[in-house]
Amino acid sequence: MLVHIGKLINRHMLGKYAVPAFNTQDLETTLGIVRAAQAQKAPIIIQTSVGALEYAGIEELVGLIKTEARQARVPIALHQDHCHDFNLLKKLIDLGYSSVMIDASHLPYKENLKLTKQVVAYAHKRGVWVQAELGRILGNEDWQNVKSGEDLMTDPDQAADFVAQTRIDTLAVAVGSMHGIPIDPRIKKVLTTLREHIDLKRLAAIRQKVKIPLVVHGASGVPDAQLRAAIKFNVAVFNIDTDLRVAFNKALRANLKKNPQIYDPRKLLAPATDALQKVAEHKLKVLKTSNQI
Ligand SMILES: [Zn+2]
Repeated sequence: MLVHIGKLINRHMLGKYAVPAFNTQDLETTLGIVRAAQAQKAPIIIQTSVGALEYAGIEELVGLIKTEARQARVPIALHQDHCHDFNLLKKLIDLGYSSVMIDASHLPYKENLKLTKQVVAYAHKRGVWVQAELGRILGNEDWQNVKSGEDLMTDPDQAADFVAQTRIDTLAVAVGSMHGIPIDPRIKKVLTTLREHIDLKRLAAIRQKVKIPLVVHGASGVPDAQLRAAIKFNVAVFNIDTDLRVAFNKALRANLKKNPQIYDPRKLLAPATDALQKVAEHKLKVLKTSNQI
């Protein structure tokens, strides 16, 4: 069933288990995610990126997710990932999103505060949650500038001030995880080290000062033990996208190679959807989301 995110993320689950926010942009990914949640009896968040909405069409993609969520036997909440376009966020709130992320982390601190406050005022009036980001979560264009990564991470004191001033509902923190897969081998080495050693000390310091649920982005590739450890520090949501894409891709490529005679897209895509579902189920077990409904 389609539910408000507040039904999944609350005080009682903090420190015990986390809920994955899986990205989707198409039918196959959506089916794989929902099937995984049902098989594991797990609540999940399905999220869209701006790119996904552009790819599939806003009404088309939102309609697909809402239909699947309503028919599912598990609670599913709809969330918008990184977005700095206030008008788009307004439209998505009207379409039934119960949570949106305003990402103004590229702006100077004061401007980030100002825009985030505006979005919070609008969203809260309509009962919708807001997530915001402090620090830069590594990925894409940030990679070429990264040396140590330290200065990109969330500062606990600033996080406390930011949450108090904006009254956001969840906070995305930068603690060493990253978006996507780096291609440059030198950068890959630095970032892989960061990812494999999530800054748990920093997370602990943030938890001391920030009481709202925390969100870790770019959780793909983070070792299972590190994910589990982060749950204890009030990380309630892990964004997972790349690991699902990699599984889908791998299975699809193998199927194409093995069966060059197949031309029915359904027969080509179904094994890839199954592979994606398997990885999603594994994540639900790791995050202890299984059997939490
Ligand atoms: Zn992100």
